[in-house]
Amino acid sequence: MNSNRKKLITILVPAYNEHEVLSLLYDRLSKLMDEQSKYDFEVLFVNDGSKDNTLDMIKFLRAKDPRVNYVNLSRNYGKEIAMAAGFDYVKGDALVIIDADLQDPPELIPEMIKYWEEGFDDVYARRKSRKGEGPLKKLTSWGFYRTLQSMTKIEIQKDTGDFRLLDKRCVEAIKQLKESQRYTKGLYSWIRL
Ligand code: UDP
Ligand code: MG
Repeated sequence: MNSNRKKLITILVPAYNEHEVLSLLYDRLSKLMDEQSKYDFEVLFVNDGSKDNTLDMIKFLRAKDPRVNYVNLSRNYGKEIAMAAGFDYVKGDALVIIDADLQDPPELIPEMIKYWEEGFDDVYARRKSRKGEGPLKKLTSWGFYRTLQSMTKIEIQKDTGDFRLLDKRCVEAIKQLKESQRYTKGLYSWIRL
């Protein structure tokens, strides 16, 4: 390997009917990618069978920025499968997974990279509050995590989403897990064993 090459960071974005927000996400990502000039970046969109213009928007972004790549799924498979499809195409030394809808602030990515450089293989963002979510969603999320945790000895983190950075070692480990009914947040915990 050429030791002079910059480390490559892949940002994986599963997207289902997100054409309205995609250019806003791209603008915020490209700003931080430009600032983090120490690294090379790739933005890997997975279009999960969107019925709106998400695919056209991704193609438009790709035409203006070669850092943009995409996987196009033939129909809507759901976020878990969309992420699994994306994992197979990740080229980066590290992978950041982020939702398209800007519920996760992209501006946290540089801090995640810093922790990765300190040697952490799995850096995740934790929600401080569930602003914008109604009482029912809060209660069902609370109940879901407690029930899930009661069924397994593996510690599953509460109040985390899929917004995280994984070293490529973790990506390789998760790629070995070919479950078709996936709960990726559980897999992140499983591979730490
Ligand atoms: N998503 C997807 N396929 C789906 C549903 C959602 O790829 O069938 C994507 C969506 O575009 C977003 C992320 O998964 O980037 C999270 O979806 P959503 O915001 O609906 O989930 P929540 O915020 O409720 O976890
Ligand atoms: Mg969301």
